[in-house]
Amino acid sequence: MAGEPQADCLFCKIVAGDVPATVVRDTETTLAFRDINPQAPTHVLVIPKAHHQDAVTLAVEAPQIAADVLREAAAVAEEEGIAVAEGGPGTGYRVVFNTGTGAGQTVFHAHAHVLGGRGLNWPPG
Ligand code: C5P
Repeated sequence: MAGEPQADCLFCKIVAGDVPATVVRDTETTLAFRDINPQAPTHVLVIPKAHHQDAVTLAVEAPQIAADVLREAAAVAEEEGIAVAEGGPGTGYRVVFNTGTGAGQTVFHAHAHVLGGRGLNWPPG
């Protein structure tokens, strides 16, 4: 059933406390923790506590929680001091949802990457 914990899901195990993570924010519906392989000075993952396989599936199955994830991504950026609308390199941030293996998704539990603290190129690699 949509949203139910999956026994073989790494991020469900983090939500359950069975796998450790460095948590930076915790709400009723979301968890934010530092990526173990950071790609920028700030690299935080924001996930729904409920299991949905990717961001689009989350938006269809639980749109309110998808909104919660985006709000929490913005809150992380504020806390990390990177939510600067008009600054130079190293200010501002990127919210990335890798969707599908071809785009780099490796964990099939929806998650937003919040990246910042260095210059970010466009187009992304
Ligand atoms: O978008 P993608 O599915 O590749 O992102 C998964 C992310 O989860 C990776 O950036 C990886 O470093 C991170 N990860 C983590 N803690 C784990 C396992 C993976 O932060 N225990």
